[in-house]
Amino acid sequence: MASEKTVYMDHSATTATDPEVVQAMLPWYSQSYGNPSSIYRLAGISRVAIDEARAKVATAIGAKPDEIFFTSGGTESDNWALIGTAFSHKGKGNHIITTAIEHHAILHTCEYLKKQGFDITYLPVDEYGQVRMEDLKAAITDRTILVSVMFANNEIGTIEPVSEIGKLCREQGILFHTDAVQAIGNVPINVATMNIDLLSLSGHKFYGPKGTGALYIRKGIRIDSFLHGGAQEKRKRAGTENVPGIVGLGAAIEKAVRDQDLKTSRIRDLRNRLLERILTEIPNCRLNGHKTERLPGNINICFEFIEGESLLLLLDHAGIAASTGSACSSGSLEPSHVLMAIGVPIEIAHGSLRLTLGIENTEDDINYVSEEIKKAVEKLRSISPLYADYLKKRS
Ligand SMILES: *Cc1c(COP(=O)(O)O)cnc(C)c1O
Repeated sequence: MASEKTVYMDHSATTATDPEVVQAMLPWYSQSYGNPSSIYRLAGISRVAIDEARAKVATAIGAKPDEIFFTSGGTESDNWALIGTAFSHKGKGNHIITTAIEHHAILHTCEYLKKQGFDITYLPVDEYGQVRMEDLKAAITDRTILVSVMFANNEIGTIEPVSEIGKLCREQGILFHTDAVQAIGNVPINVATMNIDLLSLSGHKFYGPKGTGALYIRKGIRIDSFLHGGAQEKRKRAGTENVPGIVGLGAAIEKAVRDQDLKTSRIRDLRNRLLERILTEIPNCRLNGHKTERLPGNINICFEFIEGESLLLLLDHAGIAASTGSACSSGSLEPSHVLMAIGVPIEIAHGSLRLTLGIENTEDDINYVSEEIKKAVEKLRSISPLYADYLKKRS
């Protein structure tokens, strides 16, 4: 029988929308539903609501309100940042630098740009998942127009040296974009002091609504419009605004940043205890990613001699929602590009488990999840011929 208990530890995939955020959104559906582009009062109040949300997003990242453009989420923001700057700067050059560990919203957009004639350099990362400044410096040419490095990795949680990268890019006159989808609400961000030119964020990763996001575009930066049509978002992103979503995004980011220190220290504490238990109670496992430069809620662990998918199924049976980097959505058994990039051997990468903690996790969850993982790993190893071989060789 499947477990009645449910523990959600997949906050890097998405989060529950905060009930307060939902409350803030509700009036904008059936009561104040005016189209912000219209001229009567019902429309005007929608415009004001959008302006207020824009100011909240700007404040959260140290930007000015007119530098914030609302989108449908992280994927759109990433596509726009890359495609919009690539085409508007192709007079200067056609070279873009990114990393081997980006989200597919960046990697697949780069593949598209390559077909359009752009040259893409994928920087390697060190064993902890961090870009080395020497590699970045060496990759820059006089044709380089854009550097895109994520703020924090969604699989292994590694935080990149964003300030250093921003400083270097600014000195070299190269645009710097960062996919900060995983970092918002977890790491302090200031686009001005960090010399960030473009930044992507997504509402549903910080307890806001799905299908909402924003792109920060530093004032003065040339970037092509992304959607063509009406005059919304200063003619850069046409389409009637998702007013309830934008209001929700504003409410969520305000709360995420306001509560950041308290929330992250509590989550980091729980995470550390869970990690400690797994590493000490289960043999033959290793932590992927950086020990300290890491998102507070992230655990990414490889268990030798087992398949990540089998582990997920057993955990799901116990009511635990987690994820693995070992299988891609197409169902092929491609190991995670991130684990490959940090040098995890392919057979070990197949046994990876990602647990990402969030605000609703408790001490009880830690005990339950560590026990269930231990049981599941033991069970899978007990039927693994590879593990039997390993034990035989060891004895
Ligand atoms: C989730 C995620 C995205 C995509 O955001 P959506 O809003 O789901 O489109 C992009 N980058 C990173 C790092 C993510 O974690």
